[in-house]
Parts: sequence; structure tokens; C-alpha cells
Amino acid sequence: MSKKPREAQERGAACPLPAEQVARLYAAGSEAALARLCAIEYVTEAALSNLPLEDLLGELLRRIRRVLRGDAARLSLISDDRLGVRVHAFDGLAPQAPEDWFIPMGRGLAGRVATSGEPMMYDDLTRYEVISPSLRAEMRSQIAAPLVVEGRIIGVVDVNSAEPHHFATEDLRLLQLVADRAALAIENARLFQRARFEQTRWRATVESMPDPVAVVDEKGRIVYMNAAYQRQIGPVARLGLSVEERRDLFRLFHSDGRPLQSQELPLYRALLLGEVVRNVETVQRSDGRERFTVWNAAPLRANDRITGAVTVGRDVTQERQAEAERIRLFDEIERRAAELDATITSVADGLIIYSPEGEIVRMNPAAETILGYTPAMRQRPISERLPLLHMELPDGQPLPPDDSPPSRSLRGETVRGMVLVLHPPTGRTVWLSASAGPIHTAEGELLGSVVTFTDITRLHELQEQLEDVLRAVSHDLRNPLAVIQGQAQLLLRALDKAGITGGEHRSVESILTSAQRMNTMIQDLVDAARQEAGVLHLDRQSVDLRAAVTDIVGRLAGTLDTSRIRIEAPADLPRVSADPSRLERILVNLISNALKYSAPGSEVTIALSRQGGEVVTAVADHGQGIAPEELSRVFERYYRAPAARAQPGGLGLGLHITRVLVEAHGGRIWAESTLGQGSTFSFALPVA
Ligand code: ADP
Repeated sequence: MSKKPREAQERGAACPLPAEQVARLYAAGSEAALARLCAIEYVTEAALSNLPLEDLLGELLRRIRRVLRGDAARLSLISDDRLGVRVHAFDGLAPQAPEDWFIPMGRGLAGRVATSGEPMMYDDLTRYEVISPSLRAEMRSQIAAPLVVEGRIIGVVDVNSAEPHHFATEDLRLLQLVADRAALAIENARLFQRARFEQTRWRATVESMPDPVAVVDEKGRIVYMNAAYQRQIGPVARLGLSVEERRDLFRLFHSDGRPLQSQELPLYRALLLGEVVRNVETVQRSDGRERFTVWNAAPLRANDRITGAVTVGRDVTQERQAEAERIRLFDEIERRAAELDATITSVADGLIIYSPEGEIVRMNPAAETILGYTPAMRQRPISERLPLLHMELPDGQPLPPDDSPPSRSLRGETVRGMVLVLHPPTGRTVWLSASAGPIHTAEGELLGSVVTFTDITRLHELQEQLEDVLRAVSHDLRNPLAVIQGQAQLLLRALDKAGITGGEHRSVESILTSAQRMNTMIQDLVDAARQEAGVLHLDRQSVDLRAAVTDIVGRLAGTLDTSRIRIEAPADLPRVSADPSRLERILVNLISNALKYSAPGSEVTIALSRQGGEVVTAVADHGQGIAPEELSRVFERYYRAPAARAQPGGLGLGLHITRVLVEAHGGRIWAESTLGQGSTFSFALPVA
């Protein structure tokens, strides 16, 4: 027994003890003690601890097996479910069968040591339960010691020999020493792994944080910063620079624009003053961009000494920019509102903006003057306010408040140029041309409505005066004409009776024709003037067009060669709504043109027909026709075709006023013509 350690020493495992200690023990004759010390030192040599855990465990097993001259050594760890121990490292005999790898708790030597926590020895394996088939087949003695960490059993180390009674109690103690050493190494490795894991996790977390984080040492040198910090701070964020060294690089400002000294930075205040600093906002300017950050910082202490500081910032650039944008927009809105205000105030037209409920939101001075609302009246609900105006239509019919432009626009309708007569509280009668429309948001929500109105009272008065003049003109000019026409007709009849034909007869005829033409021209001029002044009013009736045409042609017989005219009309022609005197003027103008601009004796047709909801009257001749470039212009005021200009007796007003009259009826007029073949002038009037 006692020679084994010496053999171990002899086998080349040179004693790692200092030489003088070896010499001293040897001199003292403590050969056994020396051998044991050498063996212990050999197995647990400090140099081993630098190895990675797995290598360390393998080396420990190899050395203990060598020192104890064993044939197999194993290190097993208690399984997570604590049902047994599992071989983790081995030397010598390699485990083969599953039972070689896993030994249940309380079974076999390893299982029993794992349960009891006491080192144990089997000196003859044939007398004990051996779980591992390999051990049973090849080994005869075994020792095992528990791996204990802080009183907790974590596994077992065993050494086996093919010889029975191979191990001594002394060996068991040595094995326990190795087991303790291995347990410590395992635990350290585990702690180290956990620490490393924690650190990796912490770093990964901080690294991926969108907020800038930096740690400085006691000199203010950055020892750690995450990517966000580098982004936020830019080139100044350099590891290893002291506060002093970083000072020049700083381009930081307080949020009010004052430059910020580096020692004012929360990180350095925390470091220098040892206090927690909160919510300091800085502005960083680089590449023409501004970055706003709110910083917090705290000192780091170890044993009451400040060893550094940590800072965490929050990028508030977007918030600040949004705020600045909000302020800018607000200013812009205010500026625009002021502009709009000035515009609204200065326009001469009345303008009122209503809320969806009909309250007056805005009202310009012109509107106040026109409507004469007192402040108290303005406050009243729309249902009470509108009746105060006693609105009427131009024909004197009262206008129900619900049909007025404000009410209609609040229902979403658009009103354009509606003429109203108001009798507001001022006592003055006002003529208005009012327009109104709803105000919608882009999403279609009704925000209210806007009504504008122009005081046309003066215009209306002028129109009335004009109408008086026109009436007088047409009356006063046409009266003597009627006398001329009447006398000429009498004269004609007298000449007929006397059987006088020839020159005298033709003279009287031409008096009659000229008077007729003059009559037409006066009416055209008067209606043109009315139309221009916007006071052309129709006196509509239900008219049978066929009868009207026949009647008019009959009446023209005295002055025009109506024998050339042929009327084509179906018997069931629907009636139209028309002003008879204006209808006559339309027909007279077209018929006289057709007769005038075609050869004497050639036929002129007046064809009436229903086409859809309209009755179309087409006056066709076989005259000279109109060139295409002139055709589009014949309805223009004062237009006369070059050929016609040579002919006297035209103003170029007839077709223009004809179109005005047709359109005043809600109808259409058009012309078709082929040069040298004739022209067709047609107009359509809506069925009554
Ligand atoms: P006016 O007959 O007094 O010249 P109008 O307005 O009636 O004026 O007609 C304008 C022009 O259109 C005429 O000058 C003439 O050149 C042309 N015109 C009108 N009707 C016919 C027609 N039936 N055939 C050919 N030309 C016509």
C-alpha cells in the first residue's frame, strides 16, 4: 500500500512541490507524507484551473487514476430529474451499454454515494450490486466520493481497479480531495457560464435599445456605449476619451440654444457630483440636422467610491420636430385666418358663414349693413331670424324661409344668383342677388355653409328706368308706324278699287313693306336692349304652333310674297308654352330671311314636327345658301354675311335676337346650309 504513492512519484509524475520542501520532508524521514503531498499536489495542481472545464475534468480523472493506479475513472452528475447519476467524463474504460451511462439513485456504488454523500469503497465487486455491465465484467474493486457544492450533492467521482482489494482508506481521502476540486471547478464553470450568459443577454438588450446608453469610468472615459448612443452623439462618441478630451468635440446645446459645456452633461454631473441627474434636454447639431435628447444619468459606486457613471437618453427629435411643425402650422393657420378675415371684411358683397345649425359664425360689415341685424337679432336661431327679413321673389310672391339660400345651402344645395327682395328691419326694401353653398370637409362632413349677396337695388331701379324708356321708345316709334301702315293699306285698297296698278301701286306697297320691316327692327332693337340689361321677361301661354304659324303667314300676306310659303304640320302636334308676341317675332324673322335670301318665286317650306319632348320648326329655302365659315357666325349680334352687306334693310340683329328669344323659352336654334342650294333654320321648343 505505502509504496503506491512513491510509485506514482516514480512513474514520472514529478513532484510539483518546491524542491526545499521536498528535501525537508525527505530528511525528516516522512517519506509517506511526502509521497501523499506530492500526489495531492500533482492531482490538484493550480495550473489545471486554467483549462476549460471539460479538459480540466478529463485531466483530473486521468491524474487520479494514475495516482491510484486504477483502471477506470468516471465522473457522473446527478440528472436534472434527480433519479440517478449520468456519466459526464471518463478515463480508462469507456461506457458502452445504457446502464454504463446511467446509474439510478441508491443503486450500485455511485448511486449509493450520490444518495448518502459519503465516500465509499467496494473491495470485491463480486459481492455487491454493480449496475454498469462493463464494470461488472472487468472491474473487481471500486472507490467513490461525492461531488458536493455548498452542501449540495451534484455528482460522484469513482475509480475502479481490475484487482480486488486494490484501494486503501487513504486512497478514498485522496479521491475526496479530487472530488472537491472537481466540484469547485464545475461550480465555477457554471457560475462563469451564467455570468457570461447574463452579460451577453444584458449587452444584447442594451445594444438593441433604441435609447442611447453609455457607461464611463471614474475618469469619464467611455467604457461602453450602445449603437443608439453612437448614432445620437455622432463622432464625439469614442471609447476611451476623457471628459477633457471630449470637450472640444462637443457640439451640444441646451434646448434653448445656449451652448452646453461638457461638464454640464448629466453623465459628467453624475460622475463629478455623485448625484442622479434627470431630464436634461440637449440639442446635437451635425450635418445640418438637429437631434434632441433627454438625458438621465446616475453615478456607479463600489465600496462608497464613485467608479463611473451611466447615462440613458431618449431621442425626442421627432416629438420636438412635430411640436415645431404644429407651431408652424398653427401660425400658418392664424396667418391665413387673418388674411381671410381681412378679405371677408373688405369685400363689398355681403358674406355670412353659417354653422351646420344655422348660427351665424361670421358676418362681414357689408352683410350687416344690408341686413340691418342688431347684435340681439344675430343671436336668434335661424328659424326666428330669417322671417325678420320678409323675403319675396321678384314677382312679389313671399319666399318661405325654408326656400331661402341659407336654408337651402344648409341642406347641401348650391344656389347661384337667386334674385330676392328683402324688407329687413331697417325699413328699406333691398333687392339682392344671392348665392350660397355648403362647406364640406375633405371627408364630406358638413361644416356649415356660406352665403354671399350683392345689393342690386340700384341696378334694379336702373333696369326699371330702362324698361320705362324701352317701353316708351317702342310705343312712341311704333305708333306713327302703325298710322303709316294703316294709311298705306287704305291707299292700297283705294287704288285696287280704282283699278290702278303699276308705279303708284308699287310705291304704296313698298311704303307698307318698309314700315313692316321698320316695325320688326324696332322690336328687335328693344328686345336686344332688354336682353342686354337682363330684363327680358316672357309672357308665356300654351300655344298651338300649327295655328300660330298659319295665322302669322296669313298676316304677312299684305307685305311679303307668302304665296311662296308651304306649311307642313301633323294634325296631332302637341302645344308648346310660349310668349305669342315673341314667337311671332321668331317666325317673322326666319320667314322673312328665307324669302329675302332666296330667288323670287322659289319655294319656302315651314315644317313642324314633334321630336322627343320638343316641337321643331324648320324654315327651309332654296336660296343662295351660307358658306360654312359664315354659318357659325350668323347668330352673332350685328353679323351680316359679306354678300348680304350689299343688300339694304338689315341690321344683322334679326338672327341674334331670334336666338335670344328661342333660348329665353328654354329652346334651341340651329342652321344648316349648302351654298347655292339653300338654307334651313330650325328651332326646337319644349312641349308644354
Ligand atoms: P339681316 O338679315 O338683317 O342682315 P340677320 O341676323 O337676320 O340679319 O341675318 C344675318 C345674316 O345671315 C344675314 O346678313 C345673311 O347673310 C345671313 N342669312 C340669314 N338668313 C339667311 C338665309 N335664309 N339664307 C342665306 N343667308 C341668310
